[in-house]
This record gives sequence, structure tokens and C-alpha cells, in this order.
Amino acid sequence: MSGLRLGLVGHPVGHSLSPVIHHAALEACGLTGQYALIDREEHELAEVVASLRRGERDGLNVTIPYKIAITRCVDALAGAATDLGAVNTLVRDGERVIGHNTDVAGLVHAVREALGAGGLDGAPAAIIGAGGAARAAALAAFELGAGEVRVANRTSARAVQLAGALAATGRQVIVAPSFTAAASGARLLLQASSLGMSVVPDGGAWDAAHETAARVVDALAPEALVFDLVYRPERTVWCAAAEAAGRPAVSGLGMLVHQAADAFALWTGQEPPREPLFAAARRALAEHG
Ligand code: NAP
Repeated sequence: MSGLRLGLVGHPVGHSLSPVIHHAALEACGLTGQYALIDREEHELAEVVASLRRGERDGLNVTIPYKIAITRCVDALAGAATDLGAVNTLVRDGERVIGHNTDVAGLVHAVREALGAGGLDGAPAAIIGAGGAARAAALAAFELGAGEVRVANRTSARAVQLAGALAATGRQVIVAPSFTAAASGARLLLQASSLGMSVVPDGGAWDAAHETAARVVDALAPEALVFDLVYRPERTVWCAAAEAAGRPAVSGLGMLVHQAADAFALWTGQEPPREPLFAAARRALAEHG
């Protein structure tokens, strides 16, 4: 047997850290296999899902821009994927393909590690952004025990849409008029926009993003945690602004590793140890950015 046939479907997928994380998971669990990058057009998604259904593949992840579109190709949704209407993991169950979403659990896991034992205990949480990651962040904030969840986005109409989608699941999100209004007095900031993604500290883009981030961080409660879902570079501009203000901050690498490990467990029934996965992801980030 040639081992497990895993992979990531999206477009583009060339930048992904998932192969190094999943190859580390295979090695750590004493399994053999390959995790392939599967770059496809949207009209090809149904055939990729069918190949999993036929047993030609053993498990798939889904990334930008197909997390929502793929829901039309699966036989059923499970867990957080049902609430989000977005899937990042496909699992074969007999002759059916089930769509899961491990982003929420991955984010909750990573934030809990950073928050420590205290948790949120009813304090407000703020979310910046209104895309797929922000939806996962809103669900995670409720799961983390936020008493109030506020969202702000550059394009406010999308924040209103996010609140509408969450309301349909029975969760009330407050749409704030600005990033700082959302952050005001919050104990947790989940930065789920692309602001700062791939921005490095050598000039104008960094300085402009740092200025925005500093203003938002300033509005938070004094003991607040800044959790930036962005992980490229690992010390993001939001992390730098938080550290400059003396506040704890972490990037999204932990979320990436935990969602991958949870997907791996769904496919294989084995929980990979997380440390080798972190080490592999950090090595790849250091080598290729
Ligand atoms: P998306 O659906 O494309 O949404 C992008 C969001 O970023 C939108 O809210 C957009 O606002 C906002 N945005 C983009 N440029 C901005 C700017 N210059 N200033 C302010 N807001 C800006 O993307 P997504 O899937 O939600 O992903 C968002 C980020 O989360 C990405 O950086 C991604 O890498 C990260 N992420 C991390 C993980 C992880 O495992 N750590 C998982 C998923 C995503 P508009 O609506 O105004 O365009």
C-alpha cells in the first residue's frame, strides 16, 4: 500500500503551509502517505469530491476561495460547518462525503492556550473583518464565553451580512461603526481581516498598518489579548503593535496547526502530537516566508 492520499483543494494553493504540516503529522504518527496541492477551477470541484467518494483519495482540505462553494458538492455537513455554511475538511463516510469545519475548533484551541485558565468569563470580544475567517472567529468568540461579540469591517455592509448569518443560528452579533468602537473595552481582539498579511517591517505598508493597529489596540481593556489570525510573517504588524503597547499577542500559526491536526484526526483516527507540526510550519515560514 502506497499510504494515505490527502490533499488541499483551492486556487491558488502554491503558498500553502499545509503540506509541511500534514507530512509532519504523518511522520509523527508513523503513517505513510502524500499531501498534494490540488489547484482547480470552481467547475472542477464536484469531480474532486467524487474522487474522494470513490475512494481514490483518503481526505481533503478546502481553502480560499472554495470553502462555501464546496458545500454544494458534499452529501452532508457536520458540526460547525452547518452553522458557518463553510467547509475546510472533507471526510469520507462509507459512500458519502461529509463537510466539516475545523477552523473554529482550531481557533478556540489556540486562543485558550494564549488566554490561560481565566478565559473570557462573559467579557466582550471584538472581531475585525467580515470574511470567512471572521465568521469562524465570531462562532469561536461565543464558544470562548464572550458575553458580547462585536464586529467591524472596512466595508460595513459585509459586517451586517455576517451578523445576519450568525443571527440565523441564534447568535446576536453587534455591528460596530469602526474598528476602535468594536475594540472599546474588549478583553479579546480576534483580528480576522487581511490587513497586515505578508506586510513586513520595512516601509510604508507596515507603518500605515501599524498606525491603524496601534489605535485599535489602545481602545482594548488593559489586560486584553490580541489574537491575529494572520500568520505571515509570524510576528505580524498587529502583534508588533500590541507588544509595543505592552499587551500579549499571538499570530494565527497556532490556529493553522490545530485546525490541520483536527482534520488529520478526522481522516486517520489518530491525534498527532502538535509540537512537530509547529516546528515544521515555523521552519517553512523561516525558509520561504
Ligand atoms: P476574505 O474572505 O477574503 O476576507 C478578507 C477580509 O479582510 C475582509 O473583511 C476585508 O474587508 C478585509 N480586508 C482586506 N484588506 C483590508 C485592509 N487593507 N484593511 C482592512 N480590512 C481589509 O479572507 P478570509 O478567508 O476571511 O481571511 C482573512 C485573513 O485570515 C487572511 O489573512 C487569512 O490568511 C487569515 N486566516 C488564517 C487562518 C489560520 O488558520 N490562521 C485561517 C483562515 C484565514 P472588505 O470586506 O472591506 O474587503
